[in-house]
Order: sequence, then C-alpha cells, then structure tokens
Amino acid sequence: MRMIDLIHKKRIGETLSKEEIEWMIAAYTNEEIPDYQMSAFLMAVMFQGMNKEETSYLTLAMVNSGDVIDLSLINGITVDKHSTGGVGDKTSLVLGPLVASVGVPVAKMSGRGLGHTGGTLDKLESIPGLRINIDNDAFIRQVNETKLAIIGQTLSLAPADKKLYALRDVTDTIATIPLIASSIMSKKIASGSDCILLDVKYGDGAFMETKEQAEALAKAMIEIGQSLHKDTRAIISNMNQPLGKAIGNNLEVKEAIATLHGQGPEDLVDLCLQAGAIMLMQAKKVSNKEEGMKLLQLQIENGKAFDSLCAMVKAQGGDIAYLKDPSLFETSKEIIKVVSPKTGYIKNMNALDLGIVSMKLGGGRETKDSIIDMSVGLIVEKKLGDYVREGDVLVKVHTNTGLSTELKEMIADSYLIIDQKVEKEPVIAKEIHNVF
Ligand code: URA
Repeated sequence: MRMIDLIHKKRIGETLSKEEIEWMIAAYTNEEIPDYQMSAFLMAVMFQGMNKEETSYLTLAMVNSGDVIDLSLINGITVDKHSTGGVGDKTSLVLGPLVASVGVPVAKMSGRGLGHTGGTLDKLESIPGLRINIDNDAFIRQVNETKLAIIGQTLSLAPADKKLYALRDVTDTIATIPLIASSIMSKKIASGSDCILLDVKYGDGAFMETKEQAEALAKAMIEIGQSLHKDTRAIISNMNQPLGKAIGNNLEVKEAIATLHGQGPEDLVDLCLQAGAIMLMQAKKVSNKEEGMKLLQLQIENGKAFDSLCAMVKAQGGDIAYLKDPSLFETSKEIIKVVSPKTGYIKNMNALDLGIVSMKLGGGRETKDSIIDMSVGLIVEKKLGDYVREGDVLVKVHTNTGLSTELKEMIADSYLIIDQKVEKEPVIAKEIHNVF
C-alpha cells in the first residue's frame, strides 16, 4: 500500500477499508509514514470526515498499536469515566471514591492538563508523596484491595494516538468528531474497563461549544464503545461556567475533599451524584438512578466515600494527613479579591477566560514542559444566576505573583451582570444510555 493513494482517496471523499486504516496506523506508529503525509491525510479528514465504520477501524487500530490492559483479574464489573475536560473539573476525585465506596472497582488511567483545563494527575500530585506511575500488577492488586486506583497512562497505551495527537495539535486538525472520538475511545478501550461513562462538556470552557456538537461527539463515542461490546453511556454537561468554585490544583483537591464530606458546591455534588448513579447502574449495583443517588448520598453521610479516597491515596504513597487536615496543603502568598462593579444578576461567565487566568498564575501548563504551582488558582464565589451587589466578591485569586491589570480585567470582563433575574441552568443537559 502507498500512503499517497490513501491521502488521495480521502481527499476525493472515498471511504477507506479496514485493511487500509490498519496498515496506515501501524506504518505511522513504526515511523514508516512521515509526518507530512499523515498531516495531509488528517487535513483531508477535516474536510471529508469519516463514516462510522472508518471511525471504529481507526479506534481499534490505535488500540492495537500498544498494550491493552487486562483487567480480568479484577473482581467485579469495572467502570471508567472520562470527561472531555473543563475548567474546575475535579469530578474524578469525587466520583472515583464515591463509586468505589459501594464496592464497584474503578481502575482509572488519567491524563495531565494542557492549556486552560487541568488534569486529574496534576491535581492528585498536589498530595505529597502520591505516586501516579504504578506497574500493572500493583495497579490490579490495588483495585482488588481498595476498589480504586487513579494512575497515569503508560507510554505503551495507544502510542499511535499519542503520535497523532501531537501532530494534530500543531496542524490544526484536532477539531473534528471522528478524530476526537477515536482518540478518546482508543485510550478508554485500551485501559480495559468493562463500562465507560463519558462526560461530554459543552460551553465556552469546553472542546465543544454547543450542546448539539457535544451530543454528536457523545453519540460517535458511544457507537464506538457499543460496537466493541462495552457498556458505554454519556452525559452532556454544561461548561458555561466553572464546575464548583475552585480552579487550580490543590484548591480543587480541597474542594473534592469537602464534597466527600457533604460540603460541596451544589453543581459539583449534583453532577457527581447523577454520574455516579449511572456508573452504579452500569456495574449492575442498582436498577435505577434514584436508587443509585440515594446510595451515594448515604456513602457521603456515613464517611465511607471519604475513607475510599484515603485508602487510594495511602496505597499510592500519598500522605493522608493532608486529606484529614486540608489546612496542611501549601497555600499561596496572597489572596486578592476581585469585586463586582455593579448590582444585578449574573447572566454570563466566561469559564475559558477564568481557566486561562488560573493557568497564567502558574496553575496550568502553557507548554508541555511548564512547571505547575500547586497552590495558586481561583475561588469563584459567584456563579450564573446569582444576585450580586456592587462591591461583593466575585472571585478570590490565590497567587504567588500578584495580579496584573490584564488578569484582573480578564476576571472582571468574564462576568456579564444584568438587571433582570436569570434562571439557573442544570449542570446535566442530557443523558444518553443507548444509540442503537
Ligand atoms: N482529548 C483526546 O484525548 N483526544 C482528542 O482528540 C481530544 C481531546
């Protein structure tokens, strides 16, 4: 086969066969196809798309480019959750312990953050001593013993996706559903869980701007998962404002701890209870969502969900004294308040800009090599629909480098305050349990 023929086929809108896609991905992973040809192919996909079958073949070819984690030694039905990423999204830190605390094994491989969205691994690493690189046997042993492990993706997990993603990142070929869906699902399938819950976010702080685009991406991913016999479901959730109040690494860990103690912000609690209940349905622990939500609420009240986080952190070498007394976490030198310029109701918030401010304070990576400051970030005191008076605190900025006029203006400008009352939007806009 010749790569130029496949580029041509895609450019003129023809469909590639399974064999062609398998050959292309294997040859690209083995460095037999140069980046310039793969870039041309990816750009052709941007314009011509890929059908369902091509997207499935691409996913499987990327799965098979590396190791597929065998979780068959884990007792019980394993459930994984993936979020397409958002500002202040610390759901894995709450959902993992919640679901694990009722005995459902959660064997999770997570990624790092880049740009305005934080990564679960970075947040976890704000807990002193915690290891995220754990070999396979220890990973499985830990899940059997504590029901929960959240570790880093190994280099051998879908290596074709790693290479392709890096290339897409610099050739403006990220934003198309077949490529995003196959990229995310290749890693989820290679991670080996029996069931997958996808949290596909929409809004200005998310990959997909509209609810409709998020739904189309969710459906494409569910189709891939279901065609490979994985129970795959999705929630479509709102990222028109940050999730919860905290943005920034150890600030988010502290908020996750408070949530597990029953003191979380309403939207985060709601998202975690609903998503957790769907995961319990997937694991066949409960037969409906209401039953699942009640059970999870009880796990918060009786302290078992928090115990589950402690057990995981301890197993991964982290210092659980920090979980028991969050005031031990490193704090920023200063907390600067940004106040409301007027009285009214909050109509719009720009989650993306707030994420960028946190990143610029040092809480996120501008490039892959940036070093993260675990203690900085934002506490968002007022959110969509809230009533504020002139001079009320909108955001508390935790900083080690002061607050430049540019960043202060970005925060203030991210709020639109109007005179009329504003209805609050639900955090979950839709659930998709099946596409067939
Ligand atoms: N996340 C991924 O892992 N891949 C994409 O293509 C987009 C988001």
